[in-house]
Amino acid sequence: MKPLLSEDALREGVARMALRIGEAYGDRPLTIVGIMTGSLILLADLIRRLRMPLRVGLVQTSSYREGTSRGALRINAEWMLDIRGRDVLLVDDIFDTGHTLVEVMRRMDAFEPASLRSAVLLRKQDRCEVDRQPDFVGFDIPDRFVVGYGLDYRDQYRNLPFVAELESSDLSAGGGPSSSCASR
Ligand code: 5GP
Ligand code: MG
Repeated sequence: MKPLLSEDALREGVARMALRIGEAYGDRPLTIVGIMTGSLILLADLIRRLRMPLRVGLVQTSSYREGTSRGALRINAEWMLDIRGRDVLLVDDIFDTGHTLVEVMRRMDAFEPASLRSAVLLRKQDRCEVDRQPDFVGFDIPDRFVVGYGLDYRDQYRNLPFVAELESSDLSAGGGPSSSCASR
């Protein structure tokens, strides 16, 4: 496992994002919606840096690439009704091809928010397959599979306080807590 973004770098990156979000919305009430489970840590750190009146919601998407197809999207529609006429900011861990974010935004648009923007911690370079970009980005990173700070590999590593690139030795570990993880 190769460290990519340290705890300090992440703290500064999230602070920068919070600043830009604060500038964009001012004192207007905001509804933040995190895409579970990858955005968990970002969401917790980000909302504590925002000072406008804030509501927080969650949507659940399927796990990354079930086999070769994209998994179905599950959305809790009860509270989604409640975004009508509100400023909404969707938060995800990483923008890779962009399909996840675009699909969730398409579904949320149907509930007629006053505005709908998106924020991601990471954006992978040269991977985008959609015609829209996130409005707020923490870091642009190379096209590598990364874990930590909420991001998983087979449900492991979300709790790492830093972001690291998985190496082939980690992949062959089969998803259990590998020795390289346990030694940190
Ligand atoms: P997209 O739909 O943009 O291709 O993929 C976005 C989703 O794929 C993210 O929410 C995340 O769950 C997963 N994903 C994409 N790249 C990575 C990566 O490098 N590491 C991890 N752990 N998940 C990723
Ligand atoms: Mg995700």
